[in-house]
Amino acid sequence: MSADEWMECPDCAKPHNTRLKKLDQVLANCYDKITAKQYRTLQCNIDKLKEKIRKIIEDKASIGIYGVHDYYFDEQGNFISKVSAKCYTCNKEWKSISKEESLRMMARR
Ligand SMILES: [Zn+2]
Repeated sequence: MSADEWMECPDCAKPHNTRLKKLDQVLANCYDKITAKQYRTLQCNIDKLKEKIRKIIEDKASIGIYGVHDYYFDEQGNFISKVSAKCYTCNKEWKSISKEESLRMMARR
């Protein structure tokens, strides 16, 4: 399970990112409504919670990216790269597509 790179799974990280945004809203809503000392305490507690959520995202909502360093030129001089990604939480997989494939898919819609 040694990926070239890691990034957030768009599906698995979504609820955690929503929680991060809500915590920011809680803090913003309290601005000027509580004392400065209370605000700092709240901010400190929220920062600790956000750190825990970011760790959960890192541990449980990350996708491994493979083939990032695996590319070559074929006999016709085409640049070939096959990057893929897999989330080990939801088991969703992605495969890279070329710019031409992407344009063809958009034209078909
Ligand atoms: Zn996922």
